[in-house]
Amino acid sequence: MRLFDTRTQEVVPFVPAQTVRLYVCGITPYDAAHLGHAFVYASFDALIRYLECIGHTVHYVRNVTDLDDDTLRTAAKRDTHFQVLARGEAAQFDANLARLGLRPPAVEPFVTDNVDAMIPFIQGLIDRGVAYSLPDHRVYFNIDHPNYLAFSQLSKDEALEQFREKGGDPDAPDKKNTLDFLLWQPSENGQPSWPAPWGAGRPGWHIGCSVMIHEHIGATMDIHGGGSDLVFPHHESEILQAESLTGQHPLARVWMHCGMVALEGVKMSKSLGNLVFLGDLLNEYSADAIRAMLLNNHYRANWTYTTEVMDAAQARVHRWQRVVGDRTGGPITQAEIDGFNDPDLTEALAQLGDQLEDDLNTPGALAVLDELADTQRAKALFMCGRVLGFFQTLR
Ligand SMILES: [Zn+2]
Repeated sequence: MRLFDTRTQEVVPFVPAQTVRLYVCGITPYDAAHLGHAFVYASFDALIRYLECIGHTVHYVRNVTDLDDDTLRTAAKRDTHFQVLARGEAAQFDANLARLGLRPPAVEPFVTDNVDAMIPFIQGLIDRGVAYSLPDHRVYFNIDHPNYLAFSQLSKDEALEQFREKGGDPDAPDKKNTLDFLLWQPSENGQPSWPAPWGAGRPGWHIGCSVMIHEHIGATMDIHGGGSDLVFPHHESEILQAESLTGQHPLARVWMHCGMVALEGVKMSKSLGNLVFLGDLLNEYSADAIRAMLLNNHYRANWTYTTEVMDAAQARVHRWQRVVGDRTGGPITQAEIDGFNDPDLTEALAQLGDQLEDDLNTPGALAVLDELADTQRAKALFMCGRVLGFFQTLR
C-alpha cells in the first residue's frame, strides 16, 4: 500500500504489520459533531475496513479532549460542570458516528482519566532538560530544539501566527521562547486541579495526546491521523514531547492528515458558525448516502459541502441499492455471501484494492462500485460496497 506521509511530504510505501496501531486525534466535546469531524473519521473508517478486509487487525485509539480551554469556557457559560458537558457531547458524538455506521475505536481515552500519567511524563521532560517550570505552576516545553518546525516546515513567522490563532500564549511573561508551549498550567477559580511536583494545576493541550498514545499504544505507532489543522502546533508538539521522552523515532511511521470541509467556500468552523451538523444530516439522509458523499472526496482534499453534492450522493446510492436489492430473490443473504466464490468478485475486489492501496483513493473506489452497478454485477457490488462500509442495513 502507498500512503502520503505528512512528515516526509511524499507518497511512501506502507507495509502493514499483522496488527496496525492507529491513533487519530479525537474531538473536543463542547459542541455537536459537524461534517468536518465526520469527514476525518469516515476516511479513517475506510482505511480500517480495508486493512481488515485484507487480513489485518487494527488497534484504533481515538481520544476525547474533555479538558481544555473550550470545554471549561463553554461549561462555565452554560453554568454546568465541564464533565457533564463533555461526557454528554462525547456520547452524542459517538452515537452519531454509530448511526453513520463507523467502526468504534478499540479504546477511547479521556484526558481527565489520564492526568495522573501526565505527571511523570512531564517530569521526565523536565529531567531531560527540554522543559522548565516557573514559580506560578506553569511548565513549558523549550522549543529551542534542533527538530522544531521540522514536521510542519513552517517559518517562525507562520508558526507564530498559527500558535496565536490556535490558542497559544505567545505573550505570556517569563517564557524562554515566544513559541514555547504549555505542558502544565495553574487552574483558575472553579477549574479542576491536580497536585503536581511543580505546583497544582491542569495539563496543556498537546501533552494529553502524547500521554494517551504512550498509555494505549506505546512509544511508536504505525499511523497517526487527524485533520490538517492539527499539523501545527498540535502534532509538531506531540512529536517533540514523545521523542524527547522516549528517545524513539519516529513517533509514527506515517502521518495522515485530512482536508478541511467548507460551506459556500468558507471553511466550516465553530467560530464562524457555518456548521453543518452530522446529526441534522442523518435525520434527512441515509447513512449510506452521507458516507458516499464524504468518501467521494479524497481524504487529503479540501472540499465544499453543498446540498447538490449531498443529493447527488443519495441518487448514486439509490442506484447501487436498486442493483443490489432488485435482483431476483431480493437482497443477498449471508449464506450466499459465504458460498460466493466467483472470479468476477475476485476481479472486482482487486480493482477496489488497487484504488484503496493508492493513497486511499476513495473516489476511485466509489467509481469501481458505479461500474459494478452499471454492469448489474449485484453480488460483486454488494461485497465491494461492504468493504467500504455500505449496505450495513441490508443482509
Ligand atoms: Zn491529538
